[in-house]
Amino acid sequence: MGFISLGCPKNLVDSEVMMGLLDRAGARLTSHPEEADILVVNTCSFIDTAKQESVDTILEMARHKTSGSARKLIVAGCLVERYRDEIQKSIPEVDAVVGTGELESILEAAGLTMPTAPASSSPFTILSPTQVADVRSGLESRAATHKSDIAYRPEGDLREQQGRFRRDDWQGANHLLPTYLYDESTPRFLTTPRSSAYIKIAEGCDHPCTFCVIPNLRGKFRSRRFESVVAEAQSLVARGVQEITLIGQDTTCYGEDLGLKDGLATLLDALAKIEGLRWLRFLYAYPNRITGKLLETIAKHDNICKYLDVPLQHASPSVLKTMKRGAGADIFLKTIQKVRAAVPGIALRTSFIVGFPGETAEDVTVLEDFIKEAKFDWLGVFSYSHEEGSAAYALEGQVPKRTIEARKRHLMKLQQKISKQVKQQWIGRELVVLAEGESEETPLLWEARTQFHAPEIDGKVYINDTGELDKLEPGRFYKAQITEAHDYDLVARITSAAL
Ligand code: SF4
Repeated sequence: MGFISLGCPKNLVDSEVMMGLLDRAGARLTSHPEEADILVVNTCSFIDTAKQESVDTILEMARHKTSGSARKLIVAGCLVERYRDEIQKSIPEVDAVVGTGELESILEAAGLTMPTAPASSSPFTILSPTQVADVRSGLESRAATHKSDIAYRPEGDLREQQGRFRRDDWQGANHLLPTYLYDESTPRFLTTPRSSAYIKIAEGCDHPCTFCVIPNLRGKFRSRRFESVVAEAQSLVARGVQEITLIGQDTTCYGEDLGLKDGLATLLDALAKIEGLRWLRFLYAYPNRITGKLLETIAKHDNICKYLDVPLQHASPSVLKTMKRGAGADIFLKTIQKVRAAVPGIALRTSFIVGFPGETAEDVTVLEDFIKEAKFDWLGVFSYSHEEGSAAYALEGQVPKRTIEARKRHLMKLQQKISKQVKQQWIGRELVVLAEGESEETPLLWEARTQFHAPEIDGKVYINDTGELDKLEPGRFYKAQITEAHDYDLVARITSAAL
């Protein structure tokens, strides 16, 4: 069975859940699509380029069906939530679709419950009818638990009344919003390096950001039970995971639907006490949800990475107002000051969207000045994508594509200079690094990360000198001294194995 996961880490966790279910049911996974009997593409549909990549991948995988090497093609994920009927109509090679709210039906889609193929040609261990019934009833009872467990935040209910999650004009889409949440007993097949794993602590989003269709695709905000997240983290650490990254569309809302006050801070506090967990971090903070308690908790625990990812999207108050996010450069600068004062040395990541409808040259200057002043460690600039189904789709004042690209290039160039200056200050520091493996560019270098680098997003630390050690081991922690700083990457030499 071949599985391709596209998009963000949140989608990757969905893929790992589906792969876990299939693996538990006896499927053998292969990374060579030409060897797979069944192919699954877990798609992303966040912006146009992601949709295009999803469609291209489906078409590429469809060729394995036409050539006869694959028997089944299944499409899962966000694209299914948006174009459920259309996918199968326009790509007849697709045998089944699985939305983000029905991950468990991957088994049925893969034919697990109707094992008609001869045992020798099946990618699955063929279960007896009784075993199949057991698997199904287990899944159904868990699905029932999920449904009865879900209580939404008042914001979610209000936004629903205001039409935030409406899919009525999405032809061919299922009008029911996804409600699924996995839990600690759901099998997961980890695809990340052995030492690191993501945990999705919540799903969906209630924010009204006008450029974003994620709430329409993923449904209302809902948190996983506190005990479920803790139990999953404990079992991951028991399996050798040393770095956990908490994710969700907005992690800082965690627990509000469960009646928890300072839910994320309380959760971090509990997780940080797990013995053997070396690094714990969370991504995707919403700017006005960064509380004193949250910062205090980050500062208090040595194993909570001094790292904060807070997508701000823009800094001009007028653009932020049309984006329905509010605030502006002044407020954000105060927040950043508060964060840096509470957690000295913290690394800050953010991302911005340029070219939002109505964005003027003055708005870009406000953003530019803000970037100069805030001096982020890591920063991404994305081009606005005009998404049908988003509230911004109806806005006038489209910015020409060429202007958007020019603004993006300009800001990235500015950040490159800032990043270089910021990184220069790292030279000479001795830091703990997690070795990830030999560099893809040359076996003479190793790639590593510090606590200030989240997996797969930020720059890299290249190790060019292993010190007294003959070789490094991937997934192990070492102490290293930073010897060079480039625009985004650092170079270091190992000084000792970390404690
Ligand atoms: S916070 Fe805004 S941008 Fe992020 S997922 Fe929610 S609606 Fe989209």
